[in-house]
Amino acid sequence: MRPIQMVDTQTQYQKIKTEVDKAVLQVMESSAFINGKPVQDFCSNLSAYMGVKHTIPCANGTDALQIAMMALDLQPGDEVITPSFTYIATTEVIALLRLKPVFVEVDPKTFCMDPAALEKAITPKTKAIVPVHLYGHVAPMEEIMKIAEKHKLWVIEDNAQAIGSNYTFSDGKTQKAGSIGHIGCTSFYPSKNLGAFGDGGAIFTNDDALADRMKMVANHGQSRRYYHDVVGCNSRLDTIQAAILDIKLKHLDEYIGARRSAADFYDNALSGHSVVTTPFRASYSRHVFHQYTILLDNGKPDVAAFRDGLNTFLAGHKIPSMIYYPVPGHKQKMFEQFNVASQLLPVTDWLTERVISLPMHTELDEEQLTFISSKVLEYLNN
Ligand SMILES: *Cc1c(COP(=O)(O)O)cnc(C)c1O
Repeated sequence: MRPIQMVDTQTQYQKIKTEVDKAVLQVMESSAFINGKPVQDFCSNLSAYMGVKHTIPCANGTDALQIAMMALDLQPGDEVITPSFTYIATTEVIALLRLKPVFVEVDPKTFCMDPAALEKAITPKTKAIVPVHLYGHVAPMEEIMKIAEKHKLWVIEDNAQAIGSNYTFSDGKTQKAGSIGHIGCTSFYPSKNLGAFGDGGAIFTNDDALADRMKMVANHGQSRRYYHDVVGCNSRLDTIQAAILDIKLKHLDEYIGARRSAADFYDNALSGHSVVTTPFRASYSRHVFHQYTILLDNGKPDVAAFRDGLNTFLAGHKIPSMIYYPVPGHKQKMFEQFNVASQLLPVTDWLTERVISLPMHTELDEEQLTFISSKVLEYLNN
């Protein structure tokens, strides 16, 4: 059996090596390392794939979120509503910009923002909402957009984990995750579903004015060279990364298919067990399985230790597994200044003690999946 990895980008690379190597060499020959033609080509192909008017490239997913928020002209102290149950990048940039992160609960089934909790958290200072499509499951965007319209709030989708996913509205219309809010942000971190060979990120919008503004912010706030209208930053996608991503974009749907097949395999193997809850797939969301995250509940007070025990047991059999994420936002020291530690987010805390993510990538074969599933069951049955 091939060694099991949490993410196997090496085997994936071997399958497209000829094409990738050629594209990278071409960039080197051209020396157009910054804003070379592959950057524009990739962005227009990605816009077509996403069904958006504008794709603005940037250096990473965290920058994408930061640039989006900088473009909205928010004032210090303005409130931005976001889940606590997410990766730190989502919430960190809010605080970095001197805005106030307001943490709300997620739905225990989808792991995504709970619209009822969102509505309750809105105050006159609320300016924006950042739903996160966690693990590859799309947040309930139709409800979130309705609430945002009612209260005139911006919506920035954190689509770092769900690129390629579809959302189906109640009228049957389908849109790509990341194209529904006013702005969508994504990351091309190597382990993401569309991963570069280094860092990268992008921002999506259908709004021409916002697109211009975000392009300006990402480029030192300049409207034309050496004329700087707003305080900006320097955030670019390397030409080499764009050339690689343009090749990988053509394979994205096939990659998603491979992830979904692996998820089906795990579901079949594990869903019968009383201690395990396999990932929920809401009918409106096409799950793209950035992570395959199960919940373990032995019904005892030591539930987190029981979950951690699986992590250790699997490691003993050379099977990696991860806890995404061991500390939710409202418990992070970073946010102490906002007095959020005492905030009651029982669903978030409940999930934090029970989640564990199994190896998930495009290269898992049946032998590996059988072995992983059998070892999970072995732990649970002992
Ligand atoms: C990866 C990720 C980011 C940040 O992306 P980087 O490219 O690492 O900066 C933001 N939000 C979520 C949910 C992520 O998973």
